[in-house]
Amino acid sequence: MFEYAPAPESRDIVDIRPSYGLFINGEWVEPQGEDRHKTVNPATEEVLAEVAWAGEADVDRAVQAAAKAFPVWSAMPGAERAKYLFRIARLIQERSRELAVLETLDNGKPIRESRDVDLPLVAAHFFYYAGWADKLSYAGFGQDPRPLGVAGQVIPWNFPLLMLAWKIAPALACGNTVVLKPAETTPLTALAFADICRQADLPPGVVNIVTGAGETGAALVNHPGVDKVAFTGSTEVGRLIARGLAGTRKKLTLELGGKAANIVFEDAPLDQAVEGIVNGIFFNQGHVCCAGSRLLVQESVAADLLEALKRRLGTLRLGDPLDKNTDIGAINSAEQLAKIRELSEAGEAEGAERWSPACPIPDRGYWFPPTLFTGVAQSHRIAREEIFGPVLSVLTFRTPAEAVEKANNTPYGLSAGVWTEKGSLMLWMASRLRAGVVWSNTFNRFDPTSPFGGYKESGYGREGGRHGLEAYLAV
Ligand code: NDP
Repeated sequence: MFEYAPAPESRDIVDIRPSYGLFINGEWVEPQGEDRHKTVNPATEEVLAEVAWAGEADVDRAVQAAAKAFPVWSAMPGAERAKYLFRIARLIQERSRELAVLETLDNGKPIRESRDVDLPLVAAHFFYYAGWADKLSYAGFGQDPRPLGVAGQVIPWNFPLLMLAWKIAPALACGNTVVLKPAETTPLTALAFADICRQADLPPGVVNIVTGAGETGAALVNHPGVDKVAFTGSTEVGRLIARGLAGTRKKLTLELGGKAANIVFEDAPLDQAVEGIVNGIFFNQGHVCCAGSRLLVQESVAADLLEALKRRLGTLRLGDPLDKNTDIGAINSAEQLAKIRELSEAGEAEGAERWSPACPIPDRGYWFPPTLFTGVAQSHRIAREEIFGPVLSVLTFRTPAEAVEKANNTPYGLSAGVWTEKGSLMLWMASRLRAGVVWSNTFNRFDPTSPFGGYKESGYGREGGRHGLEAYLAV
């Protein structure tokens, strides 16, 4: 491996306040309760800021602000709403370096990813849905599709600003107003987004941001003034929310967990597949709902592929997420690290063989080396449960039919990957894989024009593309 001199991105570009309130009705307001929570940099355990913990009364205030803004925002011509969205998109681009550094500090992901993947996609989402705002009558949902009202949106910590964009951009384009709760461990970019709303002169109450933990999320989704709930997170919490909303008039979309199969056939270009496998499971430390966490490799090439993969893993650099050379950043929280450790130990205890490259681990912060397991059986927990970390479970197959059966042998159905030179085999596989997205000869590729969502326990509804409008319209 080449030795690289450190190339740290400067953090001077971000101005983190010591303490944040809630963003309600276009203003920063103090919560009614005393509760505050510290958000830390997972790479150093340094406290970055204190954020307010919204209680039921605060959530109620935010929902009321959104309800009050709804008649004006929804009556505005689409072309006018689009101007605000375009303005937000441009502000995100202008402030992208600052937002990328802030995301990396709060989340632990490498700056290379927040700078080159998250931020460009965030801006692209706002640009894309800005384009739809005045064309809703042509979207295929009737002549005069109407917005739903107040959207209550709860997002996770793995792509904080990107998940915000996935939720807020289509909601606003369709004429809804929003109350959003970011995840407990990664609130800072959502709070920076609140400032962007002010910079864009967005009418007060159209976007409200309430920080807090699970109870705040529960208060939001169960609030009677909310007309639409959009949730991304664990299947367990998704189930709770679905149960709570059953029988109400609220419209619900759920984007939950996954245990995707990344399937490599013997005719695949193996070097390219190795890059795709690495991108599939080690991108964002594996904190990706659609991560290719199960590698299914055809037996005839398994030994060669594993040798090449291990060689490649030996070149991944783990460490300071602000260093532009870093491939693997920090695990987002101590809780998540404990979960990854527990499942990895279960993998060994159940008889799979664990391997990691030599990989120095920093003294402070939360870290887990890139890890792969061979000799994995379908019954092992590491083949069934979402680890949500940089851990790959390797299984083999002999025939396409066996690959399909193993790939679909999961309660989830979010994504899959197929590596082969044969177009006919790709299509044969794609039509049989029970997954919302099937990538071919690539992995983890996102685009605002393309719908994303799951089958089975991975949730329902689609985000992105024309399909993503449907969740925010009365159709
Ligand atoms: P959760 O599902 O608990 O959290 C997702 C969001 O929902 C957070 O904002 C959380 O708040 C909030 N929340 C928690 N409880 C409730 C509730 N009862 N009602 C409404 N909102 C609620 O995921 P975790 O962050 O705890 O991660 C646990 C596991 O979930 C991971 O290990 C991973 O397997 C999976 N996961 C999947 C994701 C995906 O993209 N599909 C994303 C993140 C996690 P708070 O953060 O304050 O708890």
